[in-house]
Amino acid sequence: MYLNGKVAFVTGAAQGIGRAMVEELLHKGAAVILVDLNRIAGEQCKASLDEEFGSHRTLFIQCDVTDEKQLKAAFQKTMEHFGNLDILVNNAGVNNEKDWEKTIEVNLISVIRGTYIGLELMNVKNGGRGGVIINISSLAGLTPAAYQPVYCASKHGVIGFTRSIAALASIGNYGVRINTVCPAFVDTPLLESIEKEENMGEFYKYKDNIKDMMKSFGVLDPSLIAKGLIDLIEDDSFNGAVMKITTSRGIHFEEYAAHQKTKV
Ligand code: NAD
Repeated sequence: MYLNGKVAFVTGAAQGIGRAMVEELLHKGAAVILVDLNRIAGEQCKASLDEEFGSHRTLFIQCDVTDEKQLKAAFQKTMEHFGNLDILVNNAGVNNEKDWEKTIEVNLISVIRGTYIGLELMNVKNGGRGGVIINISSLAGLTPAAYQPVYCASKHGVIGFTRSIAALASIGNYGVRINTVCPAFVDTPLLESIEKEENMGEFYKYKDNIKDMMKSFGVLDPSLIAKGLIDLIEDDSFNGAVMKITTSRGIHFEEYAAHQKTKV
């Protein structure tokens, strides 16, 4: 997909990986809807982007992605404001093992709901004009994470859902490609949650083990995740792809047997 002039909807856009992706999408000429729970961070983010790109290129919508009404209203506002939707990035996520139900709600249920709403708007069979959906998982979606079992489960869920719905979109000729990105540790405010009892609960005592893992695996810059996102959007051959991003191997893909692969 050629990005210039397209409309992208990014959740969790106010900081971290979301913000890096928004900047890259803007550099490529897209208009971007910044969706985030945090109004202050969202408005600050938009204000600083406005200086570089102009205020007409972005729209900030405060929205809790776990609230179905708010999420639907955000998509509705997008259609009213920009008239179309081409790219959806379900990126908002939390690391909370104490309130683990919330982790499932934000990281998995909202990604599923967002994908269904996005498909409804983009599916060419419904009168949409096609598009791309990218769901942000994690390397923890492919391997066990001893001190973050529910975060790990939520991210495994994102991969299974994304690959399945990508296969469905291909079979049904929806004109929508759906892919997932699995980064290793990335330098964002999310990493601070590892040092907080309110996030880690009973696993708080293992915080130094996680910090040791960060030291040994290294921590990625969010800009590399944004680059991976752009690759998945621009190359029309990707559907059902599971992109992995690590310090040792950079951007690469999980390999699946031929019968497990999704065709475009
Ligand atoms: P972050 O905490 O820096 O940013 C997340 C953003 O999501 C915040 O702006 C926050 O306000 C927003 N958000 C949280 N809950 C929300 C809700 N209910 N509704 C709307 N917005 C909400 O995190 P990040 O590191 O940029 O993470 C982005 C995504 O990348 C997440 O899905 C995360 O699981 C994933 N990820 C992060 C890392 C990492 O090491 N940082 C690694 C792999 C995957």
